[in-house]
Amino acid sequence: MWLDFVLFHSFLISKRLSEEAAAMWKKHLERDDSIIVDLFSGQLRSSLHCSVCSHYSNTFDVFCDLSLPIPKRSSGGEVTLRECLDLFSQEEKLDKENSPMCERCNRRTECTKRLSIQRFPQVIVIHLNRFTTSRWSISKSTVYVSFPLTNLDLGPYGPADCAVLYDLYAICNHAGTVNMGHYTACCLDENGWCFYNDSSVTPLTENQLQTNQAYVLFYQRSNSTTTIRK
Ligand SMILES: [Zn+2]
Repeated sequence: MWLDFVLFHSFLISKRLSEEAAAMWKKHLERDDSIIVDLFSGQLRSSLHCSVCSHYSNTFDVFCDLSLPIPKRSSGGEVTLRECLDLFSQEEKLDKENSPMCERCNRRTECTKRLSIQRFPQVIVIHLNRFTTSRWSISKSTVYVSFPLTNLDLGPYGPADCAVLYDLYAICNHAGTVNMGHYTACCLDENGWCFYNDSSVTPLTENQLQTNQAYVLFYQRSNSTTTIRK
């Protein structure tokens, strides 16, 4: 009986959430609707949980790319895209000074914040945030971030427990330093992968794609999006 009540309550909450999100999305389309929005825009949900009154509040924002932090490793070494996504969606503690007003307490309180993807775009642009700005300088991380070429599952960062699969079709690379750099691209077409470097285009094999210069990844949603995760 108690479990039924809990399940029903959480069903009502998630229903209300998806209605709120859908209303915000509709509002957005009234202002801005184009083929670019259809392909590249998604919706991000930011959930705040007040530590004083336990009130949850949600805000929904449109995004055109996900900017992911790269986890710091004291020993160097490589990290995975999954670890960057986990860090991005990890619950974050906000102190009073940095938190927004709690709607219920009507003042700033300590709270936790968590980001998740409410609406998945057709094409997701993933920016590996290699450049960090500190007070005095900008630095670039050259950590090797490994990423899947097919079946990237973003389902765990979304609202429902089902797989949301993406396949990679392009990479933008940044070579060089903060002061002097050079951009190249790897793109997939019907003949396979090609490397675009200024005016030269050369074929590439799949195992040449992953380098520590990978900077922006372009993933397209694959057709098998309704698989239920076990
Ligand atoms: Zn509160």
